[in-house]
Amino acid sequence: MDSFSNAMTQLETAAKAGGIPPEELSFLREPKRTIEVNYPVRMDDGKIKHFKGYRIQYNDVRGPAKGGIRFHPKVDLAEVKALSFWMTIKNAVIGIPYGGGKGGVAINPKQHSRAELERVSRGFIKAIHELIGPTKDIPAPDVYTDQQVMAWMLDEYEAITGEHLPGTITGKPISLGGSQGRAYSTAMGGAYVLKEAAELLDIDPLKATVAVQGFGNAGMHMARILSRWGYKVIAISDSTTGIYQEKGIDIERAAKHKQEKGTLRGLGGKEITNEELLTLKADILIPAALENQITKTNAKDIKATAIVELANGPTTPEADAILARNGITLIPDVLANAGGVAVSYFEWVQNNQGYYWEEQEVLDKLEQVMTRGFKDVHALVKELDVTYREAAYILAARRLMDAAAARGAR
Ligand code: NAD
Repeated sequence: MDSFSNAMTQLETAAKAGGIPPEELSFLREPKRTIEVNYPVRMDDGKIKHFKGYRIQYNDVRGPAKGGIRFHPKVDLAEVKALSFWMTIKNAVIGIPYGGGKGGVAINPKQHSRAELERVSRGFIKAIHELIGPTKDIPAPDVYTDQQVMAWMLDEYEAITGEHLPGTITGKPISLGGSQGRAYSTAMGGAYVLKEAAELLDIDPLKATVAVQGFGNAGMHMARILSRWGYKVIAISDSTTGIYQEKGIDIERAAKHKQEKGTLRGLGGKEITNEELLTLKADILIPAALENQITKTNAKDIKATAIVELANGPTTPEADAILARNGITLIPDVLANAGGVAVSYFEWVQNNQGYYWEEQEVLDKLEQVMTRGFKDVHALVKELDVTYREAAYILAARRLMDAAAARGAR
């Protein structure tokens, strides 16, 4: 099943659990606008290559579309559709005034020079610029796109429009109006949510072990924050290998190794597969790589007490059912990784005001948003006796239904 079918199954399951009649949600089953582009980029050897790019503005009843842009060889329409739907749900769950969007370019960034990546980034904005902007649709980074990519994209947008409009793109470098704290905000938000969940589940940070799949922006920062909080991170992985160290991994050393060598290989400790990482004996499992990692095949072997989904869509609906049956608490992506978009929202607010906050102010506000999100979802878990994913979807669906009804869009 593709990710979008999974997303729709999640919506139907939650609607059923929350007693929402299916016809009330028909406005959420199709994106509002789908943009598909095919654009030329000059390669370093002088030849022209065409790239396929997508941007989906899934829903905007609660505010402008908002969501990242991914560079990955496997990007396709179904994936972008699922990711833009999840953004719609996520922004409603944490109560920030955005709809949902997402974009992607089908490219393997590892096969291109920086100069080519710059032209690919600029070319994508040239192709979609009329449809984005601070009041329309606000892109941000995602898998294999970073601050620098955002800087090129913003620069291209401003060159085309002839205006300084930093609120068009978030996740920018601080020098172009980025927010303090944005670089590690997804992980920080996940950590704040885990703090609440750990209290309820009687997990003691000083005794608990953690396994993190994916060692990029989300996963690396999460491993770093949790190890600073006293958790023992016993396993990490990237696309090349997994590393297991029973005594706990030195995350600063691992981050340096990854930065210098581009891989976790050779870090020391036992090399394991991603599959082995997921089913390790660890109290907390953090998927922070890509979709569809926890499936009906491996869900039954997962031994964690809690799963905190920093990646989008790492768990399939069949796996959800197995995990729930086995009493594993799963904090879903649409809540757990919302810290990134929360600080993107703060970045946009600062850009629109032209007034910038200190890091501590950003962190305080982030903690407030994430804790409130967790408490709102947890209250529904208790009231309706549903899973955290179902509760998050019910909360979001109610908010989206209210906004759509007020606009006469439902
Ligand atoms: P990233 O590009 O910084 O890192 C991705 C990491 O995953 C890399 O370490 C890569 O080696 C690893 N990886 C790739 N394929 C893998 C595989 N098959 N097995 C194990 N590891 C693999 O990306 P990111 O921004 O950290 O995003 C990771 C996930 O978090 C994605 O699902 C993304 O949508 C989600 N997310 C990111 C943000 C954000 O602000 N960056 C916000 C919300 C959600």
